[in-house]
Amino acid sequence: MLTRACGHQQEFQHYAVDKYRAQRQAKFEKTRCAACVAKLAEEQQRLAAALPKKGEVLKSLPAGARVSLTYLADDSWTGTLSAGGIEVEFAGGAGAGPQSVVVSLARLWLAASGNADQNS
Ligand SMILES: [Zn+2]
Repeated sequence: MLTRACGHQQEFQHYAVDKYRAQRQAKFEKTRCAACVAKLAEEQQRLAAALPKKGEVLKSLPAGARVSLTYLADDSWTGTLSAGGIEVEFAGGAGAGPQSVVVSLARLWLAASGNADQNS
């Protein structure tokens, strides 16, 4: 049993021959368990839906904003956006194109940066 990034304990698969075990274990411990990933995606979609439309949301990003998109084996896109020291991640889910993931990332980033202002 290993503790994952979300704080939950989960069984880590052991193989007899596995030269990548150290990397697998590091990745396992740095990521969330499946239940928390699903919960996070739901939360992010709820947050994203409540935020501005795509034209204005993309224009509100600061210069230097960087987006990274990854196409996954299950025909979905996942991405991260970092700007102004804040990084957000978003899993588009089945059927969501890369452009909608970028817009969702921008909305999340705006929400996150707003929260950061309130906390400081
Ligand atoms: Zn968890």
